[in-house]
Amino acid sequence: MAYTRQPLELSSEKGISSLSFADFEDDFALSLVCSSFFCFDRLSNLAYNPWFIVQMAQKNIVVVGAGVAGLTSAYLLSQTRQYNITVAAKHMPGDYDIEYASPWAGANYMPVSIRDTKAADWDRDTWYALEDLARNHPESGVHFQGASVSNQMTCRLTIFRECEILSRDKDSQSATAEWFAELLSPSPWFKHVVPDFRILPTDKLGPGIQSGTIFTSVCINTAIYLPWLLSQCVKGGVTFKRASLEDLTDALAFGSQGKVELVVNCTGLGASKLGGVRDTAVVPARGQIVLVRNENGGKMVNLSGTDDGDQEACYVMTRAVAGGTVIGGSYQKGDWNPEVDHELAHRIMRRAVKACPDLTGGSGKVEDLDVIRHGVGLRPVRDGGARVERERISSGWVVHNYGHGGAGYQSSYGCAQEVVRLVKEVTSANVSKL
Ligand SMILES: Cc1cc2nc3c(=O)[nH]c(=O)nc-3n(C[C@H](O)[C@H](O)[C@H](O)COP(=O)(O)OP(=O)(O)OC[C@H]3O[C@@H](n4cnc5c(N)ncnc54)[C@H](O)[C@@H]3O)c2cc1C
Repeated sequence: MAYTRQPLELSSEKGISSLSFADFEDDFALSLVCSSFFCFDRLSNLAYNPWFIVQMAQKNIVVVGAGVAGLTSAYLLSQTRQYNITVAAKHMPGDYDIEYASPWAGANYMPVSIRDTKAADWDRDTWYALEDLARNHPESGVHFQGASVSNQMTCRLTIFRECEILSRDKDSQSATAEWFAELLSPSPWFKHVVPDFRILPTDKLGPGIQSGTIFTSVCINTAIYLPWLLSQCVKGGVTFKRASLEDLTDALAFGSQGKVELVVNCTGLGASKLGGVRDTAVVPARGQIVLVRNENGGKMVNLSGTDDGDQEACYVMTRAVAGGTVIGGSYQKGDWNPEVDHELAHRIMRRAVKACPDLTGGSGKVEDLDVIRHGVGLRPVRDGGARVERERISSGWVVHNYGHGGAGYQSSYGCAQEVVRLVKEVTSANVSKL
């Protein structure tokens, strides 16, 4: 993808600094060019050989974690072609586990970040990458979906496009409404970022409805997208190793070629337990979903609240390439329970068939939902927001990228771009000596 292509940083004294990776579309072409330099240069010092320089320039990096944060970081780092990268993780794409949030996500792009924050910048930067994937790389499992969002402030019934939305006054004080504050705004920061953003005209709003918005968004089929990300990493030369680390410094043993220069910590909720990190600000926000075969006419729907308590939510999105429709959900902060709560599952389904009658051909009956599976995932929420920063520890530098809560996908490229910037900073001569 063009936005991540970086210039090749070869020694300018050798007169080849004008070369960039844009000139070498594949490794084969690059190796041919490098070999011919070698032939011409064979009588001179080996250090003057560009291929040797490329090898020497590649520092060893271990990325801990193979969720969306770790894979996107490794992917963008691999595109710079400046590092030997190993991803070490307990869970990999294909696994379904309570310690692995990424497969359980919807996943969609509905920013909840507050304007003028780093989080909003990460979300904004991520949109352009996800839009590019949906438009030009459908094999990644990312596709466009219309999104309609309603802001329910009072106890009334209304209709937005095909969605009926029930709301009550108390929703405005709920944890969900607080979580969705920017998303529910009639003028959110992202209104000029996503296509087709518009406010529902007041004559289309039902009684008691404060506002409604509609825009184009994406839905990511995580079962396709995580393996796709992994395949892009493998194509970029990244090595993968299964490893369960007790301490972050254990990562130093996983460099593929020699000394590890730097560790990128993408352990999600694991950051709350991993030695050397043990970030007590990181807690789970339990999310329960149901994946069904039914579809909702191509619409993604998100409501600001439910009748069933402020830890519950109602959203519906259909995954790309026949991935089924995800209906949710819950946002149960501090709850580590990995088991499916069947009563909650019933409430989730009941709310969905009511809000989106198209799901069941208008019947509105839970029994008409064709369940593929139930799921529980733990969002890695961090009080104070995600941690994307560098840290000097006794054994060297760490770049952290964890604690993305319910926004790990929609902030993934923005955060990974920040990781690349920090890694370059840290591996530059001046900083690495600090
Ligand atoms: C129900 C639900 C719906 C969601 N919907 C959305 C959505 O629509 N949009 C969105 O953007 N986000 C959504 N999210 C949030 C998103 O899933 C997370 O923010 C994201 O998956 C976090 O990714 P991660 O890579 O940081 O963590 P994880 O996916 O949990 O990956 C952590 C990785 O670190 C490894 N690891 C941890 N500790 C260790 C250790 N000690 N040793 C070795 N490896 C270790 C794990 O094995 C794993 O590979 C949703 C989440 C849930 C649960």
